[in-house]
Amino acid sequence: MQKLSTTNVVTYMKSVGIEIIGVSPIEPLLTDSRYQKNIERICPNAKCVIVFANTFPQSILDACPENARPARFTLETLYAEGAEISVKLSRFLEKNGYRGVIIPAYLPVEMSYKTLGLKGDLNLKLAAVEAGLGSRGISDLLITPNYGPRVRLFGVITDADLKPTLKNEKNYCTNCKMCIEACPSGAISESGCNPTLCAPYSMKSGLPQIIRFIKELEKETSRKELFKKLSGLEMWNFWQALSQGSYYECFMCIQSCPVGKIKFTK
Ligand code: SF4
Ligand code: SF4
Repeated sequence: MQKLSTTNVVTYMKSVGIEIIGVSPIEPLLTDSRYQKNIERICPNAKCVIVFANTFPQSILDACPENARPARFTLETLYAEGAEISVKLSRFLEKNGYRGVIIPAYLPVEMSYKTLGLKGDLNLKLAAVEAGLGSRGISDLLITPNYGPRVRLFGVITDADLKPTLKNEKNYCTNCKMCIEACPSGAISESGCNPTLCAPYSMKSGLPQIIRFIKELEKETSRKELFKKLSGLEMWNFWQALSQGSYYECFMCIQSCPVGKIKFTK
């Protein structure tokens, strides 16, 4: 069997519609022992991570903040599309005699008191930077040259010894601070993004909010008030988020960034 090359992988990914793709060596991604153990377990003898992105159409994001529903719906579609392409890539690697293990790009994550459900099996943003796909912006998002932060990242670990793509040292963040101005929670500052300020705003129907809601129900002494809360709007929103599988409600740091923005003519 012929040795698989980075060019073979890039050509294959282009044939399935992916234009943003790179290969990161494994070593810079092993930033702590948890990642190290994870990689050893899920892909013995891992050599690199193939990292790729699909793009978030800007006109959908431009409906935010007035109406974030099109963006919420699209986000799920992007993850489903990326997952499907990841499976295809895994099969492609296996046909060539190599392992190809998908890193979940969203959920599931490890639920432990150590990670607080906030850490993936690998840091895909770091992998994207190492593979030369872009740089980190003030918003802490990956800023790509052609689409700015309007991308979703996916990764497949492999034991194929692929040549890494060139790390791009250019900083695509122009320091315009538009993400700082647009952030409704004040989470973004010149020193980066504070997730503890972002999360309560961008995930109003996320797990901490559900826990808070249950605690409030527990304290309720009036049966009438209890039923009112149980059938109220907050519960409707929890139901919607759980049914859809997505609880992100804010896209302003992605929407506001001018890098790679299309200037619509009409
Ligand atoms: S998702 Fe919204 S709240 Fe969170 S950092 Fe981005 S703009 Fe701010
Ligand atoms: S909005 Fe401006 S400051 Fe924020 S990440 Fe984009 S380029 Fe950087």
